[in-house]
Amino acid sequence: MYDSARRDVVPFVPLRPGQVRMYNCGPTVYDWQHIGNLYAYVVADVVRRTFEYAGYAVRQVMNITDVGHIVGDVDEGEDKMEIAAKRERKDPQALAAMYADRFFEDRHKLNIMDPTVVSKATDHIPQMIALIETLLEKGHAYVAADGVYYDVTTFPGYGTRLNPELPEERQAGARIDVNPNKRHAYDFALWRAAKPGDLQQWDSPWGRGNPGWHIECSAMSMAYLGETFDIHTGGEDHLFPHHECEIAQSEGATGKPFVRYWMHVRFLQVEGRGMHKSTGNTYVVSDLEAKGFDPLAFRLMGLNSGYRKPLNFTWRGLEDEQRRLDRWRSAIAGAALSAKATAAADADNVRQAFVAAITDDFNTPRALAVAEDAIALLSSPDRADRSRGLGLLFDIDRVLGLGLAAWCESATAIDDEAKALLAAREGARAAGDYARSDKLRDELREQGYVVKDTKEGQRWERVPVRMKKDS
Ligand code: AMP
Ligand code: ZN
Repeated sequence: MYDSARRDVVPFVPLRPGQVRMYNCGPTVYDWQHIGNLYAYVVADVVRRTFEYAGYAVRQVMNITDVGHIVGDVDEGEDKMEIAAKRERKDPQALAAMYADRFFEDRHKLNIMDPTVVSKATDHIPQMIALIETLLEKGHAYVAADGVYYDVTTFPGYGTRLNPELPEERQAGARIDVNPNKRHAYDFALWRAAKPGDLQQWDSPWGRGNPGWHIECSAMSMAYLGETFDIHTGGEDHLFPHHECEIAQSEGATGKPFVRYWMHVRFLQVEGRGMHKSTGNTYVVSDLEAKGFDPLAFRLMGLNSGYRKPLNFTWRGLEDEQRRLDRWRSAIAGAALSAKATAAADADNVRQAFVAAITDDFNTPRALAVAEDAIALLSSPDRADRSRGLGLLFDIDRVLGLGLAAWCESATAIDDEAKALLAAREGARAAGDYARSDKLRDELREQGYVVKDTKEGQRWERVPVRMKKDS
């Protein structure tokens, strides 16, 4: 896998044999998560599924940021939760709960598995305070009039672990007004003294206040995964400052390596441009559904991009992926009615090609091309090929996460009443009573079964099909 710290593709070696410990930077629950945010979690989901497929036990932790995320990179901005709570006239905790619920509903629509642990920042204030105390003891932090700051000059190489050099525009005083309480322009807030009217504030050794965003992720990841763990993910915007700050905090406090592999998802763009509220091109999952798309077509689009280049979302592209999904489903349902999935043998070359693709830095575009080879098997005249194709697809889909096996099960289920109608129709056709046969076909259609007459006799399909998901 590619590691942002080494800037190279390196072999994955877990800290503990057979286990993967992974932290995903989670959502700030002050608003809907848009399709760009959700795409970042599709990628994290593929990482988890890949390791589980390979036989690892994965402990996946994701935080929910319900305090501390400031507008802009500088500490002077207002907390996003505060602004939203005032805008929507809601208590910040109620607002956070509402948007977190919506986020999980959308994740489920995209068949993203629930993390092993979901940790809310506001439930971990004592852990953050303890970590800040350690940083003060070790001389990495100082108390100022308006909070506690990290002194970046005490951590050699601050800001350069994931970035070759600090971007020019972030140099001291270049664009930001440096807070006079800070010793250095880069110093960042660990704890911010409460301002009058702050809706979220807690007691601390430094008076009432609220935690910084970066300290949340250091405290919660180490609380659930240990001082050193395997994988940490986030979007490319987290390279700086968020993850550089996490490294400075965690390694400053423990003196041990923090994360073994850093993974950053390149941003989703819309029609080649960044998504911005001001340009009105910020979409959420329900916008896709309103246009008649299955959210899983969007998941497929994400898989087809590859996480190390920007994903260009277009409606045309989404139509293509929806067509692909429909084509796959129909091929699967068709084959399943005439063949039973057989477990793919380890030696199967399609399966091996899939494993080679997905273990090459989670190369999902290549994995999809391999899946197309399995789809091709479904239209083989040879029943054994069709069985093998089904087995391969259901196996591969444990990583792709398109819910194909569950979909197939519901698409090929038939109840007794429909079975009786099909039998009656077969009888009518044998007797040459086509008027009755047509009438029975209409009846079946009403019950959700489409019947076609083929050389091998009647074939039926379920429509419309209700989706079932893995999680
Ligand atoms: P936030 O709620 O702003 O903290 O973002 C949640 C996650 O979505 C973070 O990992 C971000 O890096 C990621 N993210 C934000 N915008 C995009 C985007 N356009 N494409 C991909 N990931 C994004
Ligand atoms: Zn984070």
